[in-house]
Amino acid sequence: MDQDVAAKEQPRYIKLNARDNVAIVVNDFGLPAGSRFACGLTLRAFVPQGHKTALVDIGQDQPIIRYGEVIGHALAPILAGEWVDEARIRMPEAPDLDKLEISTAVPAPLPPLEGFTFEGFRNTDGSVGTKNILGISSSVQCVKGTMEYAVKRIRTELLPKYPNVDDVVPLTHAYGCGVAINAPDAVIPIRTLQNLALNPNFGGEILVISLGCEKLAPERLVPEGISDAIVRMQDEAFDGFGAIVDAIMTQAEARLKILNKRTRETCPAADLVIGLQCGGSDAFSGVTANPALGFAADLLVRAGATVMFSEVTEVRDAIQLLTRRAINEDVGRALVREMAWYDSYLARGGADRSANTTPGNKKGGLANIVEKSLGSIVKSGSSAITGVLSPGQKATQKGMLFAATPASDFICGTLQLASGMTLQVFTTGRGTPYGLAAAPVIKVATRTELARRWKDLIDFDAGGIATGKKTIEETGWELFRLILDVASGRTKPWSDRWGIHNDLTLFNPAPVT
Ligand code: CA
Repeated sequence: MDQDVAAKEQPRYIKLNARDNVAIVVNDFGLPAGSRFACGLTLRAFVPQGHKTALVDIGQDQPIIRYGEVIGHALAPILAGEWVDEARIRMPEAPDLDKLEISTAVPAPLPPLEGFTFEGFRNTDGSVGTKNILGISSSVQCVKGTMEYAVKRIRTELLPKYPNVDDVVPLTHAYGCGVAINAPDAVIPIRTLQNLALNPNFGGEILVISLGCEKLAPERLVPEGISDAIVRMQDEAFDGFGAIVDAIMTQAEARLKILNKRTRETCPAADLVIGLQCGGSDAFSGVTANPALGFAADLLVRAGATVMFSEVTEVRDAIQLLTRRAINEDVGRALVREMAWYDSYLARGGADRSANTTPGNKKGGLANIVEKSLGSIVKSGSSAITGVLSPGQKATQKGMLFAATPASDFICGTLQLASGMTLQVFTTGRGTPYGLAAAPVIKVATRTELARRWKDLIDFDAGGIATGKKTIEETGWELFRLILDVASGRTKPWSDRWGIHNDLTLFNPAPVT
């Protein structure tokens, strides 16, 4: 649709809940003053696409309601048809963690969904990968250049001999030395590195490149019972850089031979571990992409899969809706514990939850973190929350889990990989080229305009929900089928076709030295 056609379209808004006193403008490029909606409401000012207009007059200090929840209070009177931009809204306080209802509205189990499968790489421990990758770990940043040099040679000299192996990925990072390794919070980056190497997409083959004098002993990254998995650069047996690289190549080839025996086999959808994330959100995130993803997440849960949603600062302001869904008291308390930990982490840094929203979020119509959170948690669907993971912890349960991570795209991606995620679905309103080397990422656009403009970066368009062309259910089913296709290697997401991937980025809340 081009701009002329859009301008001629009937002015449309979306009101999500009967209680709402604001609605968002749907039309591409926004609507001018004087635009008249089918209900008779006339705009008193230009309202950009995705931004809110008042449906009724709202008095000073009166609540502004979207998703049926209070997203703030009017700083001054707002008239029906005016643009309700962020400057006119006072943000409410975050829900009090001591006063939350726990497990008071646990959803009944959803009906099981049988017969859906994907083609995956089954591992000896029962886990199933969506890719067949040699992942090479490192115990310290010092070896990063060496690893990348070796990986370049592995890709050109060795990989062509092992056609069943998709890639070689160096798990490089900034941790390992110059850090307070015994600080209580150091458990997070260390656990993340340990569990990253165990991601099902790496087939259980562990290889660690170490310097030799670093604080993070490389043995800590090797599970018990595995020997001969460390190449130490300072080992006195090595005569120069060439010998070190040769040793890495030899160890890599031994693992490529084993990984090359892996082939895809038909596995139930229950073997999937799917991560959900959003980035560059706009006001449509909670209307199109996240509800469609929430529907797909319910289908995955019904099929018996593990699904995780994350991003503490984007659930904190809607936590009262999540603790009610916790399957039991323990899970509810764990949710509260992760929120409380993050509150104190932010306070230590002199910040609060309002630090989350970006200029792009606001340009896209999200006034504050409350509105962003209400739209964000929709992707968790409607099932009970069956488990909570601390940052970088490995998932062991099925169902809908909350994996506590920062909202930062690359940190959330890294932590979900450590939790065992084998495919990520990423919703975006503003657009991002985000991708991960270790697992496929399906990028879902909230608006058709973005999906068209970024036709070679966005994998799935959820925008039809806003324009009324498609329902949430239809779109959710399509997304579910795409997840099975991508997990099977039948469809490659754009980030993999271009080979554009973000760095692994550890979450290290502990001091550096
Ligand atoms: Ca994010």
